[in-house]
Amino acid sequence: MTKSPHQRASTDDVRIETKAWIDGAAVPALSGRTFVTLNPATGEPLATIAACDQADVDRAVKAARRAFDDGAWSRCEPGERKEALLRLAALLREHGEELALLESLDSGKTIRDCRNEVANEVPHFFQWYAETIDKSFGRVAPTGPRAVSMIVQEPIGVVGLIVPWNFPLLMAAWKLAPALATGCSVVLKPAEQSSLTALRLGELAAQAGIPTGVLNVVPGLGEEAGQAIGRHGDIDMVSFTGSGEVGAYLLGYAAQTNMKPVGLELGGKSPFLVLEDAELTDDLVESAVMAAFWNGGQNCSANMRQIVHRRHYDAFAERIVERAKALVVGDPLDPATDIGAMITDEHRDRVAGFLRSGVDDGARILHGGTAIDDNPGFFLQPTVFDGLKPGMTIAREEIFGPVLGMMVVDSDEEALRIAVDTEYGLHASVFTRDINQALRFARALPVGTVSVNSFSEGSIATPFGGYRRSGSLTRDNGLEALAQYQQTKTIWIGLGTTA
Ligand code: NAP
Ligand code: MG
Repeated sequence: MTKSPHQRASTDDVRIETKAWIDGAAVPALSGRTFVTLNPATGEPLATIAACDQADVDRAVKAARRAFDDGAWSRCEPGERKEALLRLAALLREHGEELALLESLDSGKTIRDCRNEVANEVPHFFQWYAETIDKSFGRVAPTGPRAVSMIVQEPIGVVGLIVPWNFPLLMAAWKLAPALATGCSVVLKPAEQSSLTALRLGELAAQAGIPTGVLNVVPGLGEEAGQAIGRHGDIDMVSFTGSGEVGAYLLGYAAQTNMKPVGLELGGKSPFLVLEDAELTDDLVESAVMAAFWNGGQNCSANMRQIVHRRHYDAFAERIVERAKALVVGDPLDPATDIGAMITDEHRDRVAGFLRSGVDDGARILHGGTAIDDNPGFFLQPTVFDGLKPGMTIAREEIFGPVLGMMVVDSDEEALRIAVDTEYGLHASVFTRDINQALRFARALPVGTVSVNSFSEGSIATPFGGYRRSGSLTRDNGLEALAQYQQTKTIWIGLGTTA
């Protein structure tokens, strides 16, 4: 365990907002109820936050609808919307260090990752989508001389955004930036464990000149605030990132109410493939370690299933264990830390349960396997399993913790068979020196993103989402993300029979 003086000084350096942001003001929940968010690195309460429920969501939706209908955002000059989102990007950049610190305190994520995600990527997202606004054109359809037909995209209206705790502000930005860019009004519900950075957004949006009511943030519990969004008859679509279980609830809520479309980004059980002709470089080993342990494995596209050709297996295993031993687990505020705290003690215990199940099923722990008990925070060692087999629970279920499982195969064909034997389809990494093999695997894997000779989810410019049970047809990121928040309209203009 590392300890650092940062941890003691930290809360003085951030401003903590605990109220909801509805209709241009910071407000308590109508019921007056609150809930507590913890600092996962200490186990101590960090703040007491407004617990919004249906009544608050209703207020937020009314404000969002009014703002959408008055057109000040939804139908303004494209350049005006662009300038406001660029100002928001600039404000987020200005407050980047403080928001990164707040994120680290609230979620247990390392300050190094928070600086990158919150201070760097989040402002970039708002800037990138802002810049699309005055460069998006409609189309003119082929017609005969008697008609002109325009195909235009229009903002869908009031959207509900529900996000998880593993990348709190980043997941919010993935959805907010394109939704706002299209002209939609939004009601955002952050995860209850990590609402604090999202709660700062309302005020920054107001400072940036985004009209009142366009952006609302309702913290609260999933079954209350989240369900109220899912069931609301005046929300036009919901975009969700989180577990398959809650994704299924949201489909049910929509079916039982106004049949709103639901965009889903769900879990995964992604493979990391080392094919026969791969070269076992430092870069490959580093990619494998990051694929499993980055963000403490609390990552939907974590490559926990590492499927390695027998030719490389022993050397691979040795180098993975050596690298895993060098990972620094501890104080998230220390820039040298590689793995911070797990989000909650329940989640840490759940991951520990998977470790026991792996051992019971016959896999062998080469490193890790234990919680860190000399600290009140929720820490877990990175664990490396040898002898992973396709039927084991740890090879089939999403663990969402710092666990890497290694599986040996005798051919590339066997590797592919095992890789696709899952209900998920979010991501895969393939290492090979043969371009034909790389392309064959990239085409054959039923997943939303394939990384070749790297572990990467792509960039802001590339769409991200899942095949199979990892998601719906919608995509976050790239120009594709805009489509979630838009509807397509045909305008058919008859020119008369004499034209
Ligand atoms: P989760 O339990 O599904 O929660 C996600 C969000 O849904 C939270 O805001 C949660 O609120 C809310 N929620 C819970 N119950 C709800 C209900 N009945 N109705 C409406 N909303 C409800 O997921 P998580 O544990 O936070 O996140 C981990 C999951 O997210 C993993 O499965 C991971 O793979 C997935 N994920 C996917 C992607 C992707 O892009 N594909 C990215 C990141 C994470 P509370 O906080 O109050 O529970
Ligand atoms: Mg917290």
